[in-house]
Amino acid sequence: MSITTIALILAALPLFFFLASFASISFREQERRAGWKVLGSLLMLTASATVVAWLGGIAAQAALYAMLGLYILLAFLFFVPGKKHQEPAQHPRRRYDERRIMFARMRMRPDSTNYQDYYRQHPEDLAGDEAIRQNSWHNRQELSSRLMDAAAHASFAAVGSLRSLVDGEAAPDKIDIPAEERTAYLCGLAKFFGALDVGVTALKPVHIYSHVGRGAGEWGQEIALNHTHAIALTTEMARENIISAPRQPVMAESARQYARAGLTAVMLAAAIRAMGYEARAHIDGSYQVICPLVARDAGLGEIGRMGLLMTPRQGPRVRLAVVTTNLPLQAHDYQPDHAIIDFCNRCNVCAANCPGKAIPTGERIMINGALRWQIDQQRCYHFWTRAGTDCGRCMAVCPLAHSDHWTHNLLQQGIQRSAAFRQTYVKLDRWLYGAHPQPKGAPAWLPRDH
Ligand code: SF4
Ligand code: SF4
Repeated sequence: MSITTIALILAALPLFFFLASFASISFREQERRAGWKVLGSLLMLTASATVVAWLGGIAAQAALYAMLGLYILLAFLFFVPGKKHQEPAQHPRRRYDERRIMFARMRMRPDSTNYQDYYRQHPEDLAGDEAIRQNSWHNRQELSSRLMDAAAHASFAAVGSLRSLVDGEAAPDKIDIPAEERTAYLCGLAKFFGALDVGVTALKPVHIYSHVGRGAGEWGQEIALNHTHAIALTTEMARENIISAPRQPVMAESARQYARAGLTAVMLAAAIRAMGYEARAHIDGSYQVICPLVARDAGLGEIGRMGLLMTPRQGPRVRLAVVTTNLPLQAHDYQPDHAIIDFCNRCNVCAANCPGKAIPTGERIMINGALRWQIDQQRCYHFWTRAGTDCGRCMAVCPLAHSDHWTHNLLQQGIQRSAAFRQTYVKLDRWLYGAHPQPKGAPAWLPRDH
């Protein structure tokens, strides 16, 4: 075997290894289309390399140069950042009223004064909300759906029981250690209790809802929270439970992660109070703060097209909880993540696949003093109540929501680094998964309908 042939085989090995790993993880993710395409590419590469190695001579030399050229192109795509885009941090001007969120609106009884007051102030919401009230969540008769209902109910019941524990008295003796040390300790403690990722930010007025709509306290009461810092935490939603979205396992998984995030936040708040400082956990059904905004400012990710926090490794596949406190901590200095904003500008997969047509296309627009995408929460919730699930189709199709696997992480690195890579990856994603990916199968342990 000539030196050129050996060099060719060595040069092909990294690509061969990447494609083999990518095909393997794609089949494990139930992404058969992507798996077969990558496997086909791998077989073609192997067959071509074998023929060229057998021919040797000029053919092997040409193939070696072609391989090196391919690596130079990939390195260019991966490392050349393109035009840098800087923009100021986007913060809303006014605080958001919790009474406006769909969960709060759907809790209002039509014969109540809250109902009358709300729709007098927001007549534009009335017709759409009434249409939603006509839908039934209870259109799920199949055995698998009823079992998943039971699973979601169990987690929501657990979160419900945690709500009485979100706040409490601080211990009289303060444990005083430097801010840097206590920040590291609390971030480590949150992970020890079950968080995937943790970040800290100074609490801003716009992080806090203006009035109670759904959480603790009287409906319409002004929310006064005098804490100075917030600790945001994530828990990971298992991909195997969201890929069948909008079918029901996604709802059981959402509920399970609300419970996990809630328990972690409640324990963390209790630990801070035991250190002698005030602390309140903000968990499902008992929020005083807007979790995605706090988590973004705490450095856990950027807010993407579907309005969810996009984290570096799990994309939108996380649930959030927050602990606010008067304990001074070292805060993250938020800067917009232009790579995610640029990728969402090019991608649009969630908008194209949203069954409720609730996700905007196009660029961000100025809303309440900040550039952002805003989903139509009425359309989204309308679909939920018709489908009888928490939907989550947008999360399931997002190219950034794949498994935490080294091949996907490498591609995410490229997305972070380079505009050319982002442009190429959007096309690659369509080729691998299609413009309208189909929902995948439910987890194997879930009984099938008879
Ligand atoms: S699907 Fe695409 S556009 Fe939507 S949030 Fe994910 S990356 Fe952004
Ligand atoms: S949850 Fe479903 S309906 Fe709502 S925005 Fe996402 S894809 Fe659309």
